[in-house]
Amino acid sequence: MSRSAHPAGPRHADVLPDPPPAPPQADANALDPAIWPVTACRDGGVLHLGGAAVPDLVGRHGTPALFLDEADLRARARAFATAAAGVDVFYAGKAFLCTTVATWVAQEGLGLDVCTGGELAVARAAGFPPERIALHGNNKAVGELQHAVLAGVGRVVLDSFEEIRRAADVASAAGIRQPVLVRVTVGVEAHTHEFIATAHEDQKFGFSLRDGAAEEAVAAVLDSPALELAGLHSHIGSQIFDTAGFEVAAGRVVSLAARIRDLHGIEIPEIDLGGGFGIAYVAGDDPEPPRQTVERLVGIVAQECARAGLPVPRIAIEPGRAIVGPAMVTVYEVGTVKPVELDHGMVRTYVSVDGGMSDNIRTALYDAQYTCVLAGRESDAAAVLCRVVGKHCESGDIVVRDAWLPGDVRPGDLLAVAATGAYCRSMASNYNHVPRPPVVAVRDGADTVILRRETVEDLLRLDAGVDRG
Ligand SMILES: *Cc1c(COP(=O)(O)O)cnc(C)c1O
Repeated sequence: MSRSAHPAGPRHADVLPDPPPAPPQADANALDPAIWPVTACRDGGVLHLGGAAVPDLVGRHGTPALFLDEADLRARARAFATAAAGVDVFYAGKAFLCTTVATWVAQEGLGLDVCTGGELAVARAAGFPPERIALHGNNKAVGELQHAVLAGVGRVVLDSFEEIRRAADVASAAGIRQPVLVRVTVGVEAHTHEFIATAHEDQKFGFSLRDGAAEEAVAAVLDSPALELAGLHSHIGSQIFDTAGFEVAAGRVVSLAARIRDLHGIEIPEIDLGGGFGIAYVAGDDPEPPRQTVERLVGIVAQECARAGLPVPRIAIEPGRAIVGPAMVTVYEVGTVKPVELDHGMVRTYVSVDGGMSDNIRTALYDAQYTCVLAGRESDAAAVLCRVVGKHCESGDIVVRDAWLPGDVRPGDLLAVAATGAYCRSMASNYNHVPRPPVVAVRDGADTVILRRETVEDLLRLDAGVDRG
């Protein structure tokens, strides 16, 4: 007998909305340009992306599938890269990485952040210029450090004292002087609309400012002939709209740079403020354009340096989500539609699609919000409150928690979910042995598979017990 047993029902799947869902938008068919990729439009009622009709794309590639608007991604990458002189932009590959996207961001003038040997291998397979690659991570294996150092990566971001020793040993054995950044934990935790500034942070990354660890780490790097101190690094969070958190972080990093000058008589060449720039997922999300963000950060660092009497260093930033997030759309096929009566006579329509938490874990993991529309047709039917759910054996398998869809939504409809470029395919799993969806790039009416659909055969190939005759 379980003491936490309760009647099946609303509590079980946490279906009572809190806070209540936003009211339906005036037109359930509309495509908010703040949310959808730059080429998204309706033509004859049908959603088009990159000049191609989504039903045609689905005819060729099936569902679920992620469609990547190349023009959208390139425009965002370019906007960051050209926003201001003296700023190095590194695309955070963990948001989404494959060789094609690595090639595009290289062409647009960006560098690339990787944080594992696997991501580094993709960058290398793409022929990404190694001097523009940065290796991150709080627990890099010796093999990963060797791979990075021998490949000639431009910077390794150091995260612990063990790692400083390991990196020094690896570089020294290779006869290389490796440029490194010291990752500093500045005590700023930023979220969408607020940030928390503390003296201390209870998390695994970086060297703390408060207990002197950051200064010690800098001293240890300066003591290692095989390491070259290229700068200081800070990353304060993700999906941030408000730059006040960056202001506090930059102030603290610049103060550290001033102390380093006083202690060691050296100037810090670069300050990396990390990523985390927010995007619009739902109506009302209002991120500022890349150029404005970059100009603001440059202004903040310049002001803090002036206050500390330091020359302005190079500035680096690491946007991931803000480059790839809005560029992709996931298209599913609706399989079942089930109205469920809730308390107070309210009805919620459960719309089941042919993917779910295996291709988008963000709703389950972070309570993320998304926007979706019917992709194959328009409808005048009055909007009903829906919850878009997947096909997995979990009541938490939710793709869109609260969606207003036309009341005639039915099996066979195509459903497009916006802004799924970041942390969806890259965090995808094979839960329930559901193969991971493909990523198809679209541009000027032409579509190209850049990551093919996984098959059940792919999965069975890993099963050592399968008899292959
Ligand atoms: C995750 C991460 C980023 C990118 O974050 P976004 O929210 O995708 O911009 C950048 N830098 C570091 C160190 C990160 O861990």
